[in-house]
Amino acid sequence: MSTSYSPEQFDVMACARSNARLTSMMTRDADGAALTRFFSRLETEASDPQGLATVSWAVQTELRPGADGQPQPWLHLEAEAGIRMTCQRCLTAADVRVTADRWFRFVTDEATAAVEDDESDEDVLALEPRFNLVQLVEDELLMAMPLVPMHTACPVEVPTSAGEEEFQAVLEARPSPFEALAQLKTAR
Ligand SMILES: [Zn+2]
Repeated sequence: MSTSYSPEQFDVMACARSNARLTSMMTRDADGAALTRFFSRLETEASDPQGLATVSWAVQTELRPGADGQPQPWLHLEAEAGIRMTCQRCLTAADVRVTADRWFRFVTDEATAAVEDDESDEDVLALEPRFNLVQLVEDELLMAMPLVPMHTACPVEVPTSAGEEEFQAVLEARPSPFEALAQLKTAR
């Protein structure tokens, strides 16, 4: 396959006709400038300016017959980013792996996309002659970001844990209102 596809001006229909597969792998060390250019919104989610370490993605396209029998382009996106964020438990840096895996189907116009998107498991988008695939990759990764980033196991002693344990102990020691009521009743 000699055809080259630009991920920023992506011809979904042409790719799907040839079952094209596109892949990209960028690392901070090798492609720092490109990472900043393509994924600036992801970079702002990192805890430091160099915190977006890697972004890689693979896209597989294909045609499938639609409800009207006409071929529709489908696109399977798998994406992954390595990004340094601040752990919300111990407040030190945590290297977080963010992944996205989603199917998209393309229809002829926005109105059809809006109606069919609600009824479909896959995401339904309107077919554009020049589609920005990189933006889609970034959108999906942003949506997959953890709301509360955390280490699986924090590397440092969490300073608030002792306080939390004491608080929990106080809660457990205090009788519930129902227990207090029961004691009151038996006392009578
Ligand atoms: Zn932590």
